Amino acid sequence: MLLRKYLKSFPKLQNVLTQKRLAQDYLKVEVTGESLKFPHVWLRDNCQCDACFHRSANSRFIDWSQFDLNVKPRDVSQDANTVKVIWEDGHKSSYQLNWLKFRSFTPESRKTYDMTIYKPTKKTWNKDTFGEAMAKFDYTEILVSDEILHNWLYHLSVYGVSLIQNTPDSDKALDAILEKVAFPKMTHYGAKYTIQTVANNKTNSVAYLPKKLQLHTDLSYYEYGPGVTLLHCEVQAEGDGGANLLSDGYYVADYMKQHHPEQYKLLIDTEVEWRNIGIENGIEFFKLHRSPVINLNKHEELSRIHFSIPQRSSYFPVNIEAVAPWYKAYTTFLELNNQYAAYLKTDPGDILVVDNLRLLHGRNSYEDTTSNVRKLNGAFLDWDEIYSRLRCLTVKLKNLDTIY
Ligand SMILES: [Zn+2]
Repeated sequence: MLLRKYLKSFPKLQNVLTQKRLAQDYLKVEVTGESLKFPHVWLRDNCQCDACFHRSANSRFIDWSQFDLNVKPRDVSQDANTVKVIWEDGHKSSYQLNWLKFRSFTPESRKTYDMTIYKPTKKTWNKDTFGEAMAKFDYTEILVSDEILHNWLYHLSVYGVSLIQNTPDSDKALDAILEKVAFPKMTHYGAKYTIQTVANNKTNSVAYLPKKLQLHTDLSYYEYGPGVTLLHCEVQAEGDGGANLLSDGYYVADYMKQHHPEQYKLLIDTEVEWRNIGIENGIEFFKLHRSPVINLNKHEELSRIHFSIPQRSSYFPVNIEAVAPWYKAYTTFLELNNQYAAYLKTDPGDILVVDNLRLLHGRNSYEDTTSNVRKLNGAFLDWDEIYSRLRCLTVKLKNLDTIY
């Protein structure tokens, strides 16, 4: 206490001492000519010995009530591949250099890790660049080749859209694709659902009518919204009817940020209530979720788009003055999405795959007659499962065992 008081009268000296103390909290390790720093506390936390880390469970095993936050090494030695640390309490740790390098705290290393392991960087597109964004994959190739499965999921995560072709003409064909990734996302429509015109206007979803479907995201009223929509076209309507409209909501959000910053701000700040009420398979549901149209994460990056005209609640949870300006911003967002959307008409055998947290999709009206029918099988996948499968494949195909 006395020393601290004394030092306070010499702020510069105190600074130097603090910095020196901080510098001593790191271990410097030379890896392939680079000097990398690792905090002592982090190294001890990530000791890979059998007492600290359970190999088969791939999990830390440390009893945290015994953990010393001020842990210091007593002795450090390094050879060509390994750093060995003996801590002050005698515990021994050993780290592979390439294992350490992969976890380095430098900005460059962190970027590499983010892109190869965490999540690939997204690339936005509009109708003019849709050709690059929309890649086509073969149904059977996805099922038999890890490399093609990886490429499909990687592409989907970057662009948010893809087409799987040559799918067998069967209601069960989607199952094999879903199982190749993980398992379908359950909703009140079940693990899978059929989109087909329901007679006499008696339906619980406007998707089951042949009318035009305005741009929307699916199931906006779910807090844990389905990550990806898969639509298997089994029978397609003739002519222009039944074609899809696809818009990259992230492109439009970026565009609004630049060109309509005030309206953009309203769309990220204003909470809207999304709603769906009905009965499916005899079971009543009443779904509500509140969220802005454009959602950002803590790094101010786009994280989710909610957009629906039919499934927006008439209850609006805002102050009365906020209502009218928000409608204007919402309309601008839809107009821009329409303006930058690409058209795509799927053929029988196609599975259209769409990032449902990012893209808006819609559909032309079509005439539903006995000679002109349209039938789609739909299912959802979650991004947790997609990224998980993608990482497993990346590690396997690129031999990135150091991740473990
Ligand atoms: Zn240990």
